[in-house]
Formats: sequence, C-alpha cells, structure tokens
Amino acid sequence: MPVPKAELHLHIEGTLEPELAFALAARNGVELPYADTGTLREAYRFQDLKSFLDLYYALMTVLRTERDFADLADAYLARAAAQGVRHAEIFFDPQAHLARGVGMGTVVEGLWRALGRSEERHGVSTRLIMCFLRDESAESAMATLDAATPYLHRITGVGLDSAEVGHPPRKFREVYEAAAALGLRRVAHAGEEGPPEYITEALDVLGVERVDHGLRCVEEPALVERLVRERVPLTLCPLSNVRLRTVDTLAGHPLPAMLDAGLMCTVNSDDPAYFGGYAGDTFDAVRETLGLAPERLRELARNSFLASFLEDDEERRARYLAEVEAYDFG
Ligand SMILES: [Zn+2]
Repeated sequence: MPVPKAELHLHIEGTLEPELAFALAARNGVELPYADTGTLREAYRFQDLKSFLDLYYALMTVLRTERDFADLADAYLARAAAQGVRHAEIFFDPQAHLARGVGMGTVVEGLWRALGRSEERHGVSTRLIMCFLRDESAESAMATLDAATPYLHRITGVGLDSAEVGHPPRKFREVYEAAAALGLRRVAHAGEEGPPEYITEALDVLGVERVDHGLRCVEEPALVERLVRERVPLTLCPLSNVRLRTVDTLAGHPLPAMLDAGLMCTVNSDDPAYFGGYAGDTFDAVRETLGLAPERLRELARNSFLASFLEDDEERRARYLAEVEAYDFG
C-alpha cells in the first residue's frame, strides 16, 4: 500500500501525458508536430527550463473544451489515487488558456467536473489554486483575478509560477492584496531558480502561507532559521529539480539536510508527465536514493496534511493524519 499523502505542488497542465495529448488533438482537430506518442515522449526529454516551457505551452493547445479539462484532471486524480494521494491542491494557469481564446469558465468549470466528483470516484479531496504567470505583467495578473470573480466559489487560493528570475514577488503586491481581500489563500513559487531574497519577499510582501520550492533558502542561514521558527511549509519537488538542473543529482538533493535543520518540508511532483514521476514515484525515489529513515518519511507525509488548506475540514485532516501515524514505514 502506498504512503498516504497530500500533494500540494502540482500543475494540472503538467500532467498531460503524450497519449492524452494525442487523443485530445484528434478530438479537437489539432495537428501536433509529432508523428506519434513515442516521438512526443522523446521530446519530453528536454534539456532545460526553456525547452520544457516551450513544449509545455505548445501542448496546451490541445485543451479546448470543458470536457478536455475534465478529462485531464480526471486522469491525474486516478493516477494520484493509485499512488496514495488522499488530498490534492491543484494549480492551474488560466493566462496560458485565456491568451489562446479559451475562457476562464471553460477552464474552471471543466476542471470542476472532475474535482467535484473526485471524492466519490477516486477517494481524493481537492482544492483549486489559480496561478499567475510571473513573466506576464502585473496588470495581466489583475485582469485574470477579475476574470475569475464568477468562479471564486471553486477557487481556494492564488499562486505564482513560470520563469522566476527577473520577476520578483513584489511585482505582484497589488494583485495579492486584492486576492487576500477576497478571502483567497496565498502561495508562490520562490527560491527555485531565483535568489533567497525572493522567498523573503514572498512572505513579507505577498503574505504567502506556503512557499513553493523554496529550495535556495539553504543559502541563507538566517532565512532557514526564520522558516523553521515560523513553521513555513516548503513544497519541494525533487524530481523536477533534477530534470531542470536545479540540483545535479537526486543523491545530492538537500532534502535530508533541510529536514535535519527543522524545515517543514513536503515532497511533490510539480509537472509529473514531464519530470518522470507522480507523487508516489517521487516518494519512492526520495526513499531509495536519499536513504531517509522511516520517521523522516512519516514526517514528510504528516507535513503534507499539516500544510494543506484543510482549515475548513479539520475532521478530514485528523483522519488523514491518523492514517499517516498508523502507516508502517518499515
Ligand atoms: Zn511548480
């Protein structure tokens, strides 16, 4: 039985497997520049962030209708459930879809078709987090938040993703203030490729409750101390770090040292179709390659639920946590 866990850092567009990409392309009459799923899978072996993002945005063109978004989310939830995920807080990138003429309602209601039935169908509870593309303007982010107004009952929080360097958190101060005023929870990618100061800014300027990645905090002892003291969760994505060359090898990943330092770490899959593994695969890779002790693995699973946005359902959180404590980590 796989480790029971929550997944807190997962881009739904990053779960598009070659087979589904081809199926949706055929359904929508979209021509993909790849002969077959094998050729496309080869292209998934990109070399750096840019080649990844190029492919990531190119493939999104197959997502057109509510049904497409529902199929995408449902495929992810089925895989996640099979790998022990009990709760998933799912990112989506509306700007990438709005820019090509797909409406906010199509995206959100499409995803919701799957999320709304996820508990009954897959036994996975869900939350939806709308991300702003940080390499787009602050005005565009604000317009995106406006466009989401009719759908806020479906959306738990906001996040910030895409190419980090040169796009500091402070660029999005106003849109985060507006999101907070609407009662939305706040997270942001920071300290993946960008410097540790971006983590501090995300906390102090954007008021985030979790830091996505946050890996580069290890360069600043005072920042590590603060994150430990304030119990700020970090949603680490070790397989993504290896594929995007943020770390050289999984064996050299700082996760064990970060746990030893007392940081509240979680492990997540980020863009699993592209980075070589879903939540359970990631957990297995970390267990095997980093040689974490059983109690460290339990800590990671426990943290995933403690860091999740389940404040409106503490009974459920308690049930998940009890499952973690009862699990035999070997
Ligand atoms: Zn991410």
